[in-house]
Amino acid sequence: MVSHKRKIDPSRDTLKITNGKEYLESLRGRGLDVYLFGEKIKDPVDHPVIRPSANALAETYDLGVSNPDLATTVSPYTGERISRFLHVCMSAHDLVLQNKMQRRLGQLTGTCFQRCVGMDAFNSLFSVTYEMDETLKTNYHQRLISFLTMMHKLNGVVGGAMTDVKGDRGLAPHEQSDKDLFVHISKRTKEGVYIKGAKAHQTGTVNSHWMIVMPTMRLKKEDKDYAVIGAVPVDAEGITYVCGRQSCDTRSQDEGTIDVGNAKFGGSEAMVLFDDVFIPNEFIFMDGEYDYAAMLVERFTTYHRRSYVCKSGVGDALIGAAAAVSEMNGVPKVSHIRDKLVEMSHLNETIYGTGIASSYQGHPTKSGCYLCDDMLSNVCKHHVTRFPFEISRLAQDLAGGVVSTLPSEKDLNHPEIGGLLKKYLKGSDKFTAEERIRILRLIENMTMGRNAVGYLTESMHGAGSPQAQRIQIQRLMQVEYKKRLARVLAGLDVDEERKDGLANELGQYFERVFKVEPN
Ligand SMILES: Cc1cc2nc3c(=O)[nH]c(=O)nc-3n(C[C@H](O)[C@H](O)[C@H](O)COP(=O)(O)OP(=O)(O)OC[C@H]3O[C@@H](n4cnc5c(N)ncnc54)[C@H](O)[C@@H]3O)c2cc1C
Ligand code: SF4
Repeated sequence: MVSHKRKIDPSRDTLKITNGKEYLESLRGRGLDVYLFGEKIKDPVDHPVIRPSANALAETYDLGVSNPDLATTVSPYTGERISRFLHVCMSAHDLVLQNKMQRRLGQLTGTCFQRCVGMDAFNSLFSVTYEMDETLKTNYHQRLISFLTMMHKLNGVVGGAMTDVKGDRGLAPHEQSDKDLFVHISKRTKEGVYIKGAKAHQTGTVNSHWMIVMPTMRLKKEDKDYAVIGAVPVDAEGITYVCGRQSCDTRSQDEGTIDVGNAKFGGSEAMVLFDDVFIPNEFIFMDGEYDYAAMLVERFTTYHRRSYVCKSGVGDALIGAAAAVSEMNGVPKVSHIRDKLVEMSHLNETIYGTGIASSYQGHPTKSGCYLCDDMLSNVCKHHVTRFPFEISRLAQDLAGGVVSTLPSEKDLNHPEIGGLLKKYLKGSDKFTAEERIRILRLIENMTMGRNAVGYLTESMHGAGSPQAQRIQIQRLMQVEYKKRLARVLAGLDVDEERKDGLANELGQYFERVFKVEPN
């Protein structure tokens, strides 16, 4: 009988990680139960298919070294420099810097660097636990701060586990034929709770040190056992990880560096199975308070939907690849090519513009931490469900059909046919065939290969499928107020009503839009 209690090893959990190399080292020898391709993997970080995703995360540490102002800040709890991914935003400026860091990392990795779900979980939990304690006289906020302090000492990676497998999407958690289709409390003891169920699509979870488990939707009284939030070390007893298969993933274990497209970086997701996993009281931040699940989900998605500014950084790399391949094809100055690059940039900057505006228009919560603007964050994420697809379409247009018919690296290096292939696959004399092929493989990687998971599917569904944003936009769009504006301009309402009515009617979003901040 296992105890389901992993002892927190102080020498490990307080050892501060300062760079990518130390981070990669910290992932070794942890004894996680990880499956990939039907096999249990000993050290995921050393598996050729998983390693690119650990490299992308390591880049978040290395950016902290090369550009500490952008990717680190000083912890209010330890007084030491920590990754910005662990920081709770205490100003709109903090929110903006998160976005700038995300765009930069998108540029540097060309993929998902996996660290934002935990960041957005911390930020949303900070205000939600504060407001829960204020009303319910619980002590979740202090527990969260203790956990945050521990993570700041470690400078670790925290995953955010929100999405349940959900079974029948038309039924609430308690209505499912199998209780485990949403993560729930299976047992309560004096020392803590045990949880059971599964979380789907967990980004970078095998590359994390801890994860925060959260409910995925608004809950009712009957769903009380599903209202659980807690932090668990990723190697807690009872957790099993099954890595997702990505298109072209085995290219990462092929010999050579061309066919893989992006030789160093990739993303990774896993299904996480919880079999009576113990969470001690000190790491529980919600236990049965179903009323607050909706507040948590709403605040989390508000942060997370503008975190998708990351895709503008990835888009920068793809636009660069499209421009480079046009040069290699010998047509960089042709007007429709330039126009398509302009269109791609326009779409990409629109994503960035709405995301960063959501952060600039952030506002303080009762806890003191800042929450970004919900309307603009939903608009940002909704753009992301569409624009990367259009940018990818244009990149494939400029690349030419060869982007999907290239021979393999082994054929290029073949003693008999390699020379001929290099002769026939060359474009402009200014570039070698290999240069052109490498850029084409990168476009393939980002638009239909391994990193299309991060650039396209994650853009579609991550932080909620498109309809989830439309529901929020509908809720926030203040159409009655807008109708009144029209009525006044059309001469239907008298001036007095305009003065009294419209001035008092600004409502949440427009109050933020028209708020004049002191200089
Ligand atoms: C690459 C990737 C990485 C991710 N990373 C994370 C992560 O790190 N952590 C995390 O917690 N989650 C993560 N997610 C999960 C993401 O938040 C979900 O994919 C998203 O919430 C949609 O859920 P689903 O995939 O179960 O889709 P489904 O719920 O199966 O939705 C499929 C379609 O059905 C519609 N639909 C579903 N239910 C209803 C309903 N009740 N009424 C009307 N329409 C409905 C949806 O709008 C959608 O169009 C990730 C997803 C991806 C693809
Ligand atoms: S998809 Fe973007 S926001 Fe989400 S974890 Fe990856 S890099 Fe961060």
